[in-house]
Amino acid sequence: MDIFCANCGEPWDVSSVAEVRHGQDTDPAWKLNRSGYPLNCPCCPKGKDGKPKMQEKKSPRAKAAAIVADLLGDDIDGAACLLEDGEFLGLMNDDY
Ligand SMILES: [Zn+2]
Repeated sequence: MDIFCANCGEPWDVSSVAEVRHGQDTDPAWKLNRSGYPLNCPCCPKGKDGKPKMQEKKSPRAKAAAIVADLLGDDIDGAACLLEDGEFLGLMNDDY
């Protein structure tokens, strides 16, 4: 199951994010919130300074990821299930 970056909406497998949480993936592009949810990822667009650039217009996936992260806290598996349901229902289409 995937969770989405709350900035760019890129899908990441839950196990990939777990590797970041446990220090096995030390890519500095990752930024997790206190619950371990990705706020920035290696796929986020970079600014001129090379740091992830916060998206002004977020995709439906990124918006949903930010909301789910706030609602479920450190329940990453629950977040992945909720996001998967949202995708199945078509709630994350660009035209929604
Ligand atoms: Zn990202």
